[in-house]
Amino acid sequence: MSGINTFNAFKNFANTLPVQDFLMPVLFVGHGSPMNGIEDNEFSNRWTALAKEIPLPKAVLVISAHWFTNGTSITAMDFPKTIHDFGGFPDALFQVQYPAPGNPVLAKEMASMIHSAHVELNHDWGLDHASWSILRHMYPQANIPILQLSIDYTKGAAFHYELAKELFQFRSKGVLIIGSGNMVHNLRMVAWDKLDGPSFGYDWALHMNQKFKDLIVKKDHQSLIDYHQLGKEAMMSIPTPEHYLPLIYTLGLQDKNDPVSFFNDKLVGGSLTMTSVKFG
Ligand code: ZN
Repeated sequence: MSGINTFNAFKNFANTLPVQDFLMPVLFVGHGSPMNGIEDNEFSNRWTALAKEIPLPKAVLVISAHWFTNGTSITAMDFPKTIHDFGGFPDALFQVQYPAPGNPVLAKEMASMIHSAHVELNHDWGLDHASWSILRHMYPQANIPILQLSIDYTKGAAFHYELAKELFQFRSKGVLIIGSGNMVHNLRMVAWDKLDGPSFGYDWALHMNQKFKDLIVKKDHQSLIDYHQLGKEAMMSIPTPEHYLPLIYTLGLQDKNDPVSFFNDKLVGGSLTMTSVKFG
């Protein structure tokens, strides 16, 4: 089942959204602090600029580090609510609403195209900050339908990689798929006194940031799937998998002809990378 997708295999497909003659890019976005949702900073400014550089999507699907569930679910409501899934932040962050519509028909279609898992149509969740903190900068008018896919915490990276491949066809239907997490994400080791000021990274975090980028450029997906075998520095970078697995989804969605580029390639607080990837 391994190997990288090719566009041509998926061109003829019954659909709800029409098939286009190009593939939407796929993004892995390091979302970092929820404050990025309301701050104008180098990271959020890049998200704003990026949205203007890529085709306007018909819909957006976000694989969220903050929706880590037993089984796989997809949001299937007409109007997903804005979820403030954090504590200890300024009131202004709790006031944020991102009133983008959903797309229940598309959610149902996506669920039906995934055969490696049963995908539950969800009517309770909504948009957590892994989605809206980025999307309100990219699409401030909130007029593009947004769906979220949860990450099944009972499954390993290989499962998520194969599931992602089943969503590949939606890249040809104008759907922008975003994996939202952070590759290096060790909150316990954050140097809180170094959050402001120049970018700071612990050696192990800097090494892993480079290692992840090298493996992505080499398209060595197997090593990224088998991240437990990448050594102690990888384990420090990925103490829990929820912020890393969105990257695995974007790897599974890669076309072999996609150019690969990085953005927001920086560390925050020593142990967290904002490093993001654009495929396509
Ligand atoms: Zn997060």
